[in-house]
Amino acid sequence: MNAQLKPLQTGDFRLLIGGRLVPGASTIDVINPATEQVVAACPRADVAQANEAVAAAKAAFPAWAARPLAERRALLMKLADAIDARVAELAPLLTQEQGKPLGGAFFELMVASANIRGIAALDLPVATVKETAEARVVRVRSPLGVVAAITPWNFPVIMMVTKLTPALLAGNTVVVKPAPTTPLTTLKVGELCAEIFPPGVVNVIADANDLGGVLTAHPDVAKIAFTGSTATGRKVMASAAPTLKRLTLELGGNDAAIVLDDVDPKDIAPKLFFAAMVNSGQVCLAAKRIFVHESIYDAVCAELAKLATAAKVGNGLDEGVEFGPLQNRMQFEKVKAIIEDARAHGKIIAGGQPHQGPGFFIQPTIVSGLPDSARLVCEEQFGPVMPVLKYSKLEDAIARANTSEYGLGATVWSKSPERAYEVAMKLDTGTVWINKHLDLPPGVPYGGTKQSGYGVELGQHGLEEFTQAKIINMAK
Ligand code: ADP
Repeated sequence: MNAQLKPLQTGDFRLLIGGRLVPGASTIDVINPATEQVVAACPRADVAQANEAVAAAKAAFPAWAARPLAERRALLMKLADAIDARVAELAPLLTQEQGKPLGGAFFELMVASANIRGIAALDLPVATVKETAEARVVRVRSPLGVVAAITPWNFPVIMMVTKLTPALLAGNTVVVKPAPTTPLTTLKVGELCAEIFPPGVVNVIADANDLGGVLTAHPDVAKIAFTGSTATGRKVMASAAPTLKRLTLELGGNDAAIVLDDVDPKDIAPKLFFAAMVNSGQVCLAAKRIFVHESIYDAVCAELAKLATAAKVGNGLDEGVEFGPLQNRMQFEKVKAIIEDARAHGKIIAGGQPHQGPGFFIQPTIVSGLPDSARLVCEEQFGPVMPVLKYSKLEDAIARANTSEYGLGATVWSKSPERAYEVAMKLDTGTVWINKHLDLPPGVPYGGTKQSGYGVELGQHGLEEFTQAKIINMAK
């Protein structure tokens, strides 16, 4: 075990409600996916505490909304500084609850504070819609009220701050609810918020997967910012309908990577490998279907197999580990079943061996020769498993990529920017990267088409989703 880790006690974690750090009505054990041991007993809010959190956010809203944006920005910048200052303590905690290697945990926290700074630097200026001799029409952006930020378990801290920051900058108040398997680092960021923001502006509750619905149906919640599965996203939308809540839904993906015939297999393989395997494949924007031209198919498969075999999988706290376990048992079992289906319908050319012993580990796995109907190709698999699919005509690869019900992201790989751009134009997704992957700077929005979501996060557009556009039409 890493020397800097202290044993964690139940009392180490508190909910944040109305500016007070409080115990939950009960507790829920958080399991380390590398060891299957309890990391800590986490406070678990009940419905009354969820309602209290919403009431506190509602009460704090008028004063927070009335503060100048520059003051709200300054406090957000303090939060970014506070995360940076505590990174040595937060990163090992994130590794223990989430499973990702320590380097990945440090990276997540660094991206989180960079996102806070990048989003908080944005502005909501008054826009002139029309100016004539008779009239001046402007559009202002008002906050909505209480925002519920509901986050998943793959990037708990990035997902939290990517919702919290624009919500607060725009003048809303927030109730954050992390996933029940990764609440601990979020609660620690909640403690930092308690020192920085006025009571009630930020509230953080944790649950056993039972309070999301309370927030999405609550009449005093004006907006839901949600990242999670498409199935749960549909429930969120239905639950939000009676009160017409504003929604940002970042849902599933089954992103295609289209590899053109002009790339060098040796050069492309590590890039594709990263695009598919980063965070052990538990990324909504991971490359999950790799379409490779037949002329380089065998060579690309061979290079990918070498990388997968050499990859170091293990406890994220151990030196040199590149890939941690899957985050929870349910996900682990699901991915194992998908691998068995792939074994039956294609050829496993690396990985794919069952893991013995504790921990939800899966060695990066490469599968060739699968039909598009295999589960690994047509379902959103959230694991370190990569189907490499052969194509001969580019138009067919594009059509196959577009058959997915999802439309989150895609990548195109080619030496020719013009050819790649042409392909990008034909892909029905919210983002297409050309010759790169997962470049998500805070100023650039991303979102999904089709069943991948609703609305965008990041950038000016992402910020504006936490506001109501209001028109003021003045006679001259
Ligand atoms: P997974 O990615 O494990 O399938 P979900 O998409 O269900 O998980 O979870 C993402 C987040 O949504 C988590 O914080 C989870 O607790 C929350 N959640 C689960 N069910 C609901 C619901 N009915 N309404 C709102 N949020 C929910």
